[in-house]
Amino acid sequence: MRIGVLAIQGDFEAHRQRLESLGAQTALIRKPEELDAVDAIVIPGGESSTMLKFLERGGFFEKLCAFVKTKPAFGTCAGAILLAKDVGNPPQASLGALDIQVRRNAYGRQLESSIRRSETTLPGGPLETVFIRAPRIVRIGKDVEVLATDQGLPVLVRQGKIMAATFHPELSSDTRVHAEFLRSVKNGTK
Ligand code: GLN
Repeated sequence: MRIGVLAIQGDFEAHRQRLESLGAQTALIRKPEELDAVDAIVIPGGESSTMLKFLERGGFFEKLCAFVKTKPAFGTCAGAILLAKDVGNPPQASLGALDIQVRRNAYGRQLESSIRRSETTLPGGPLETVFIRAPRIVRIGKDVEVLATDQGLPVLVRQGKIMAATFHPELSSDTRVHAEFLRSVKNGTK
């Protein structure tokens, strides 16, 4: 099993290191055809509109769209925005793999970045959550499971093979979120 990390922009290296520290094999994905060699994909944080510009070249967007329809994917922050079905503030194209609506940069200036402790259903108590110009999940579909909340709002969600976090688990020493994704990749849908 090999986990691809989309490496066109953003903090892909921290994800790669975290996944490897948990025993996973990884591959950085910079070209669409490299998706053929991996079993799952992590889409990092960064700037979703910039990532989209890269993806719009050479059929990358279409290839990634098809990939996330059948294979596990985990998006953090900008990655969550790319996986979402509906994106606002401003609206932009997305892969539409996860039935959520997100509002970009939704926490305003003062709360642009913060480290918080969020409630989670993952065993082990509250989760350290690092938010950087985070989106807010403003709607979740009926098949979407909420794995963590902050101030009552979902910040970590899952629908079948797709997981998304509005925060940056790769920047926390808490490894539970990546471990949960790896477990779901190994076990099939959950
Ligand atoms: N604000 C970024 C966006 O809209 C996301 C920020 C992040 O990934 N840390 O794409």
